[in-house]
Amino acid sequence: MTRIGVLALQGDVSEHVLAMQRALSGKGEVLEIRRPGEISSCDGLVLPGGESTSISRQLEISGMAQELKAAARSGMPILATCAGLVLVSRKIEGDAKVRPLGLMDIKIDRNAFGPQRESFEADLLVEGFDRPYRAVFIRAPAIVDVGGKVQVLARIGEVVVGARQDNLLALAFHPELTEDMRFHQIFQKMLEA
Ligand code: GLN
Repeated sequence: MTRIGVLALQGDVSEHVLAMQRALSGKGEVLEIRRPGEISSCDGLVLPGGESTSISRQLEISGMAQELKAAARSGMPILATCAGLVLVSRKIEGDAKVRPLGLMDIKIDRNAFGPQRESFEADLLVEGFDRPYRAVFIRAPAIVDVGGKVQVLARIGEVVVGARQDNLLALAFHPELTEDMRFHQIFQKMLEA
């Protein structure tokens, strides 16, 4: 049975657990990951939205940052949303508070949409989707630069808000908060590959 871990150090963990359970519809189990040693028992991992400073600190202190890097490099599919996207990046523009894991060749702006746009929704044209995807953004970061191995999936204006690099799917918005499961379906295909 497929085991999907949701990193549960901080952030919107329960929303991700419920959304992933809905996506798997009984064909897998979803676990909350809190302790060292738990990541490697999973077939796939979700890095939720939340406060990337707090999640980053706890990953470092617990030693789970190394485990997460090893899992990603071994090819484990990872769905990284919002703060999760910040964590998997290679570089964070003008911000020394979060130590990025450097798993994906992307540069991030943590405050790309400005403080006055705390949260908003947008219809995205997504590579491979036949109709727009309504995305929910909450104090969202954005990708401001991508390396050659990164496939851009969606943009808002100049910035990238969805991207994939091999086994990593990174989204600036929150697919766990809407009914549309198309990004979860991409993640499920990554699990089968
Ligand atoms: N801006 C937040 C951070 O960098 C992320 C916001 C979110 O995950 N909703 O931690």
